[in-house]
Amino acid sequence: MAMIIDGKAISSQIRNEIAEEVAAFTAEHGFAPSLTVIIVGDDPASQVYVRNKEKACTQVGIKSEIIRLPAETEEAELLKIIDGLNKDKSINGILVQLPLPKQINEKNIIAAIDPQKDVDAFSYENTGRIMAGDFDFLPCTPAGVMELLHRSGISVCGKDCVVIGRSNIVGKPMAMLLMHENGTVTVCHTKTKDLKSHTLRADILVSSVGKANFITADMVKDGVVIIDVGINHLHDGKLTGDVDFEGCFEKASAITPVPGGVGPMTVTMLLKNTLTAAKKQN
Ligand code: NAP
Repeated sequence: MAMIIDGKAISSQIRNEIAEEVAAFTAEHGFAPSLTVIIVGDDPASQVYVRNKEKACTQVGIKSEIIRLPAETEEAELLKIIDGLNKDKSINGILVQLPLPKQINEKNIIAAIDPQKDVDAFSYENTGRIMAGDFDFLPCTPAGVMELLHRSGISVCGKDCVVIGRSNIVGKPMAMLLMHENGTVTVCHTKTKDLKSHTLRADILVSSVGKANFITADMVKDGVVIIDVGINHLHDGKLTGDVDFEGCFEKASAITPVPGGVGPMTVTMLLKNTLTAAKKQN
């Protein structure tokens, strides 16, 4: 039977620590760290994510502003707004909520954000710095996974780590962070042959696929640590991860639930990055 890694409790503990640091920063500088989030269009999921970010900022004392733009906004207009925010010394972090409408090239937008204010850590500069192991910001979801492991007393050193998924925002940086902590990392994707042969070897398995019930008990070994990054919406409106939680719970030594595992950590790491940005800029 597995230890359940309680992302909600760990996240709340970290948010309390961040709130203390934000209060100290604000007392010292006379202003609070600040985050500006830009949302283009009215995608319902993005609206929820942005509201959650705003709520979390308020909770820890970070000043937040949301810039809401219509779906037909042109790339040039968004670039102009980002340029203004880059130059504004009172703004410490800038986040553009993805996805963007199709007339806007996401790569151009990410590249336009000052790397020192890039609290999502998606820019090529910050991505490169993660590769080199010399970074200020980490992408929020992989950073959240590492915090969950650290705070649950799970060491990565020497372990066989298997990451399923190779996206730029989850899988690739996840693999890099596990490698930095001396894990032996395998990254699997749709072209991987015999996925099960890899998952069965995993001491630590991170699934970031986006398919419900993708990882079943027969695919993992006894004692595995399972981190379920997936978020999947079922027909009945419930949320689930990639992992058959009930089945894998019996074999794993530790497992994250969905909801209440990795999810809460992602916004928490955004708060941490915003505080880091404010400290670096001041
Ligand atoms: P993504 O860009 O769609 O990447 C999915 C990855 O899974 C791809 O690399 C894909 O391989 C791989 N994959 C898909 N089907 C596979 C299969 N049958 N066998 C092996 N690999 C397979 O998604 P993402 O942005 O990384 O997100 C992944 C999941 O994490 C989603 O459910 C997302 O909602 C969730 N997520 C959660 C959080 C959080 O805060 N908890 C944050 C971000 C994302 P190819 O590269 O070969 O296509």
